[in-house]
Amino acid sequence: MFTLKGVFLPSILALVLTLVSGGQMNAQDARLTWMKEARAALEKELVTTYGETQHARITQGLSQVAAFWRQEDGDATSFREFARPNFAGNQPALDVLFNRFEYLLEQLNGHMTEIGMVFRQQSDLDLGPTYPFDDLFAAYSPGAHVADDFFANKLAFVVLLNFPITTLDERLTASAHWSRREWAEARLAQQFSKRIPAEVNQAVAEAGAIADKYIAEYNIYMHHLVDAKGSRLFPPHMRLLSHWNLRDELKSGYNDKEKGMAKQKTIQQVMERIVTQTIPDVVVDNPDVDWNPFTNEVRPAAVRDVEVAAKSNRPVSNVPEPDTRYATLLKTFLASKKVDPYSPTAPTLIARRFDENREIPEAAVKAMLESVLKSPLVPKVARIIEDRLGRSLQPFDIWYNGFRPRGQYTEAQLDSIVARKYPDADAYKADMPNMLLKLGFSKERADYLANNILVEPARGSGHAAGAGMRSAKAHLRTRVSKNGMDYKGYNIAVHEMGHNVEQTLSLNTIDHYFLNGVPNTAFTEAIAYVFQTRDLQLLGLPSPDANNETLDALNVFWQTYEISGVSLVDMGIWHWMYDHPAANPAELKAATLQIAKDVWNTYYAPVFKTKDVVLLAIYSHIIHSFLYIPDYAIGHLISHQIEEYLRGKQSIGPEIERMVKAGSVVPDVWMKNAVGSPVSADGMLSATGRALKSYK
Ligand SMILES: [Zn+2]
Repeated sequence: MFTLKGVFLPSILALVLTLVSGGQMNAQDARLTWMKEARAALEKELVTTYGETQHARITQGLSQVAAFWRQEDGDATSFREFARPNFAGNQPALDVLFNRFEYLLEQLNGHMTEIGMVFRQQSDLDLGPTYPFDDLFAAYSPGAHVADDFFANKLAFVVLLNFPITTLDERLTASAHWSRREWAEARLAQQFSKRIPAEVNQAVAEAGAIADKYIAEYNIYMHHLVDAKGSRLFPPHMRLLSHWNLRDELKSGYNDKEKGMAKQKTIQQVMERIVTQTIPDVVVDNPDVDWNPFTNEVRPAAVRDVEVAAKSNRPVSNVPEPDTRYATLLKTFLASKKVDPYSPTAPTLIARRFDENREIPEAAVKAMLESVLKSPLVPKVARIIEDRLGRSLQPFDIWYNGFRPRGQYTEAQLDSIVARKYPDADAYKADMPNMLLKLGFSKERADYLANNILVEPARGSGHAAGAGMRSAKAHLRTRVSKNGMDYKGYNIAVHEMGHNVEQTLSLNTIDHYFLNGVPNTAFTEAIAYVFQTRDLQLLGLPSPDANNETLDALNVFWQTYEISGVSLVDMGIWHWMYDHPAANPAELKAATLQIAKDVWNTYYAPVFKTKDVVLLAIYSHIIHSFLYIPDYAIGHLISHQIEEYLRGKQSIGPEIERMVKAGSVVPDVWMKNAVGSPVSADGMLSATGRALKSYK
């Protein structure tokens, strides 16, 4: 049914792409019959002008320009007239070129960021009513067409002619000898390492939107789940979105001694029906029917708890959902595949996720996940859970959350302490230098940071928005009610402040603009958590005791064990789709179920003593997030590695500053600089080992 070739390669634009050794590209618009000859002549000419020392740069630069040049960019004469004056043939010329790009692209990105920020202001901040046009302003992305513009006006080709595009492999190996400037050049070139036609970006956006909508409307009306006797375990009006709300309700079952277990088993059954697509189509998002998920029997609803029936008048039957879940996933794959020919250094979605977004090779990520999954600590933690539950593990106990530490203060006590201290956003802002001093930043640094972070009242829960240029400021958005800040809002504000500190230092104190930021989002989250976990200390209250630390470590370890398996399922599915590009939804379903069972049987069955469980495939992200799930596991591991290093250190401020000054180099290089070793699961495993020793 799906024949790929005709779909993603318009016949008029047939690209021939091959990667030859050394990462050099040989890709070309097949219509450019003159290119080979023009390139050879120009190469000879430029070598004559600039000398043999520039030969390799000339060859690579011309090859990169040729790879992205399209017929509409001009003929052989245009190609020559572009390349001849724009090649920087000696170091002083290259320095001028690099410095100009660095300065001007900072201005461009910075001002685009500022425009985006003010356009979203009415939506983001607590500034009174929003109108429909405010949503339109908020949705506008001023930088969306910059890449297209830069190819059209040939500035992208200036970069491609002068700076090498690198593969992840080169960034990992050759970079050992790179200067900071060479790192910055690599980051500049990477910005133009793909030239994706607008219609391809559009196809990806459309598939993403379809998947988002499918997931956003996938609700289960819980009061309409009935057992063989027709009794209802869940209260009226309860409408749970798959999988997040279902999972959270399952977790809350641990606090319900009477009915918790029955509820959890029911939710597991619902999840399995969704994954296997044996769920009756009519029960999805529909309060008009009652459903027994065990027998799969469906009847007209015997009670009415919800007035608005979203999709009424559907015939009451247990005809299953027609594999829509997998048809939706398949659409995201087929759209992603259309990008492949235009991304020569990362020619699959899998490569783009690992080599470009994460910059950790897939094999290394897999090895890290496995070191958690296969850890001898798993069965030890599992026995503790069984002990705490007083029963053997059930498959849904991958979501066990009973390690929650109890603080010295109640939430109400903390609320009143925080409300008194921070009646409004300005009070928080005024206290920031003081808080930063407590984390060990010098007086001068604390003042500098506080001056560069604006504190504003958020409409939603809060977020941190970094600046895009050194003359602009970071924004800390936090929720403050009329009665002052509450503890939850404060805890989030401290987290966001961690982001803002990272954003400010890694932009304003860095040597090269192109290296601003962190390697990937896991790193800024890790720093935000370092701040967040010290929130009581910043309030001047005693830090959590050792027992809390132990429970916390076991909790995070168990979460990471769970999400590591889900990550392997997500990765396995994408590999299967690339191996079977013509598959239909039913085949994808069968493959997904097999992958989920295989991962379960390898890493969970020995601990849970149950085989062939498919629960790991319930994550909604699998359907709509384009291979995002491994980021959660990587995030936990990176966070622990940094936290282990900072553990027991009195002043973390100067350490954080030293770490983030490395900027957006690859994760391994960043981590070696930060803690002395590459990215790994070691931090989490040693924290868990310590927790097991001290667990009472
Ligand atoms: Zn965050």
